[in-house]
Amino acid sequence: MAKVLCVLYDDPIDGVPEQYARDEIPRITKYHDGQTAPTPSAIDFKPGELLGSVSGELGLRAFLEAQGHVLVVTSDKDGPDSEFERELIDAEVVISQPFWPAYLTAARIAKAPQLKLALTAGIGSDHVDLQAAIERGITVAEVTFSNSISVAEHVVMMILSLVRNYLPSHEWVLKGGWNIADCAARAYDLEGMHVGTVAAGRIGSGVLRRLKPFEVNLHYTDRHRLPEHVEKELGVTWHPDVESMVKVCDVVTINCPLHPETEHLFDERMIAKMKRGAYIVNTARGKICDRDAIARALESGQLAGYAGDVWFPQPAPRDHPWRTMPHHGMTPHTSGTTLSAQARYAAGAREILECWFSKRPIREEYLIVDGGRLAGAGAHAYSAGNATSGSEETSRLKTS
Ligand code: NDP
Repeated sequence: MAKVLCVLYDDPIDGVPEQYARDEIPRITKYHDGQTAPTPSAIDFKPGELLGSVSGELGLRAFLEAQGHVLVVTSDKDGPDSEFERELIDAEVVISQPFWPAYLTAARIAKAPQLKLALTAGIGSDHVDLQAAIERGITVAEVTFSNSISVAEHVVMMILSLVRNYLPSHEWVLKGGWNIADCAARAYDLEGMHVGTVAAGRIGSGVLRRLKPFEVNLHYTDRHRLPEHVEKELGVTWHPDVESMVKVCDVVTINCPLHPETEHLFDERMIAKMKRGAYIVNTARGKICDRDAIARALESGQLAGYAGDVWFPQPAPRDHPWRTMPHHGMTPHTSGTTLSAQARYAAGAREILECWFSKRPIREEYLIVDGGRLAGAGAHAYSAGNATSGSEETSRLKTS
């Protein structure tokens, strides 16, 4: 019998919907590269329901309890008095979503002698101190591809919203105005612009594929180059490093994981290399950008706009400067947790747990750390080390 500790975001303030906006969601069985969507033996939820908040329990309770395991679900994740820290002491499995990350720092891992599996329901395991997981032999797994396209769609939406000045124009309608000149004074067409992605993995290449029909000039940089025929098909130009790419781009979208190599990649120095009036869309991780450098660049006009859904730490403190900086289109961390995405990563979490408890191998593409080293998708896209430092700041939000 194992204890599974699952940290999920709070239910909606009006309660879990009794009826949803739509009656069904499309059934996705395969992704663009041929990888199959999660294949658990069964699911105990209806796809399209809210699963990522506390009451949804990722649809896991019946399955786990039927096998005699204990499931503890909480949203109380920050600080030493949190339910998460109290329950962690004898947990074998921790499940967390990046939207509401249960930071598994080295100090917390040291307090959890039974911990063997850190499962990310979604993609991006930077909330786990991967170095500490490597050293303790903890397996880290995530549901690769489950919400990559959810994010790619969001990136395209945010690029268009910024360039076309959508949010301020919508505001004028809410205020009862008809201020066309105010709306148009910062509105441009995307057509003909140079758009570059930092990383052309599952999300980055999804963004490139989606932007191709917009008749823009596409660019990318990545540690591994795309096959030549893919570069040709997309008409995309490769750059050997981020600096050489950002110099020529009007819009830069960030789609690499957060790891020691990418932490604060977009600092004052990198932003200064961009064209004046460029836009950044970052749905990867907040900490890839230097928080204050972004706010200053929007104030000075070096950047014309910044949008994304990722912050550091999460939840963002109420006084986080990205809440109030000019020309931003920030949302809470939502792009990868649409109801459509939740159905896939909840099924993926179940698939991983089925493998774990029956001692069958977890799919290679789901692994980030295994057997004391980076493994699977982690060996490809991450570097060893820790990117959780500073996460303690979340406890400040609790009391402010
Ligand atoms: P993938 O693993 O498919 O792609 C990541 C890509 O980043 C890989 O191509 C990798 O290169 C590249 N990369 C890693 N380090 C660097 C670097 N230093 N410079 C340039 N490229 C680099 O993952 P996804 O595309 O599915 O997801 C990417 C990230 O997006 C996640 O790690 C997560 O942080 C974030 N995300 C955000 C979500 C949200 O809701 N906002 C939801 C899902 C993900 P290579 O493998 O060639 O070495």
